[in-house]
Amino acid sequence: MNAADPEDIIDAAAPAARRSRQARVVWGNRVVTIGGDAPVRVQSMTNTDTVDVIETAIQVKELAIAGSEMVRITVNTPEAAAAVPHIREQLDRMGIDVPLIGDFHYNGHRLLTEHPAMAQALSKYRINPGNVGKGDKRDRQFAQMIEAAMRFDRPVRIGVNWGSLDQELLASLMDRNAQRSQPWTARQVMYQALVQSGIGSAEMARELGMNPDQIIISCKVSGVQDLISVYRALAQRCDYALHLGLTEAGMGTKGTVASATGLAVLLQEGIGDTIRVSLTPQPGEARTQEVAVALEILQSLGLRTFNPSVTACPGCGRTTSTTFQELAKQIDDHLRAMMPVWKTRYPGVETMKVAVMGCIVNGPGESKHADIGISLPGTGEAPAAPVYIDGEKAMTLRGEGIVTEFHRIVEDYIERRFGNASATAS
Ligand code: SF4
Repeated sequence: MNAADPEDIIDAAAPAARRSRQARVVWGNRVVTIGGDAPVRVQSMTNTDTVDVIETAIQVKELAIAGSEMVRITVNTPEAAAAVPHIREQLDRMGIDVPLIGDFHYNGHRLLTEHPAMAQALSKYRINPGNVGKGDKRDRQFAQMIEAAMRFDRPVRIGVNWGSLDQELLASLMDRNAQRSQPWTARQVMYQALVQSGIGSAEMARELGMNPDQIIISCKVSGVQDLISVYRALAQRCDYALHLGLTEAGMGTKGTVASATGLAVLLQEGIGDTIRVSLTPQPGEARTQEVAVALEILQSLGLRTFNPSVTACPGCGRTTSTTFQELAKQIDDHLRAMMPVWKTRYPGVETMKVAVMGCIVNGPGESKHADIGISLPGTGEAPAAPVYIDGEKAMTLRGEGIVTEFHRIVEDYIERRFGNASATAS
């Protein structure tokens, strides 16, 4: 065996290019492109009763401010359908132009036909081919929804979900599988059913006259390896824009890690044009947490930049106080809280990197890689905190006011570096 040449070049990893068609989701002057060379988009979904116009509009606003570029709402009854135009009006009045997506199951064909104001107020329709109807009703009702989308010039997401998979398609695939000399596993049959349901429904929409650029597909499952298998197959077999997400991801750490793991593998392979993180909120947790996680996934992969990043060490036996943890959290919270204002006042501030380190072992080194960094004194170290700005040691902070002083230094840095950009831009 030949040893690898230690001098071989090591290439930087980067997400593969995406190659999907590009769809457009529009509300007023706001155009959100999905797929092709557009950035990977972030979506979310409300958990309010759509009939409650005010509560739903407020949650949509919160999700949009948190960074969701489209927000889906349930449209499950005539009352919910009647509420949709009023939700749209409330949002427009609040200056929130985020496109709304209607989520339809079972009766979407009727609601879209009987509530034209609702069909008009939505910017995109989600159709679940497993919940469109059974037998000969299925194709007719699916066609009614596609015709509504074409009439109002709206894109659709063919949203397959393994929890509501088209049972007739699954049964026919299982029958065919039984005839094989070497039958596929039940899992492999399920993958086929998901992919065929998505692509087959998209083809049916095209036969009805729908422009393929108006079609987005998703095939959601709740297992990470299943998600990767299904989306690799989808990406190989079609060029529709793909909406990516682990369905029923779960709560807290489990839901966050499972979503990040599955989505990261696929996004790195260039698969996925929009994402949603389907977190179950923990009691008292804000619905916007799912948006925060989605943004973090895209930013961690280097696909998009939303917020300045704070690098903090985990701490160890060298840090017996929590001062550096508190500082890291305060800086991170402050930067995120200020971003809605800073985004316009300080263009480019979202690319800033701040390092908050617990001692001098890795502190100065990590600080030099950041735009601005501080190494707090570890246990037994001299009570001094060196600060690095743009890779150079700029000063050493001492005494009780280190935290306050560092806040001020960060704000001065932002004003100096990004305030000028704002002046130039205007
Ligand atoms: S930088 Fe210092 S405190 Fe932080 S983990 Fe490394 S050795 Fe521990």
